[in-house]
Amino acid sequence: MAVRTSFEVVHSCGHTQLHDLSDRPADKRASFARWLASKDCTDCWKAARDNDSASKEEWLAARRAAEQQAAADWAAQFEMPPLEGPEKALDWGERSRHQLVTAAYTALVTEGTWDEADWAALEEKIRTISRAGWWIDQRDAEGTDLPELLDAATEADLGTENPFR
Ligand SMILES: [Zn+2]
Repeated sequence: MAVRTSFEVVHSCGHTQLHDLSDRPADKRASFARWLASKDCTDCWKAARDNDSASKEEWLAARRAAEQQAAADWAAQFEMPPLEGPEKALDWGERSRHQLVTAAYTALVTEGTWDEADWAALEEKIRTISRAGWWIDQRDAEGTDLPELLDAATEADLGTENPFR
């Protein structure tokens, strides 16, 4: 009698599933069926996987919303001008500006040698750059690079409603 190819496996999730193990060597089928029994059935495994990616997306969206809120609060507190540019770039630009400017403050003032007057002067320059795309372009920059980057900004990066120009 040939070794059977079809195994009814009771999975750890409690479901019973019929498995065709004909593609496995005859002497390996029983142990493979035992291994399968220690796992969830295919449906439960897929459901758990989909659930994982859904909750990961949810987590990312929540984190982005929190960052956006922090950037908006910060912009209001320090009287940063609203950014200009394509609609889809505005939020990203705001988050990028917030991250880079707070990193610069930490590096230059909190951990560096700048005093508040030095920083206030830089902050004036920061306020002049309202092109969202400029901030997005600098998203990977080091905080300590911000003064040099601001000096390199051109007329086109200043806002159209800029009171400082
Ligand atoms: Zn199951």
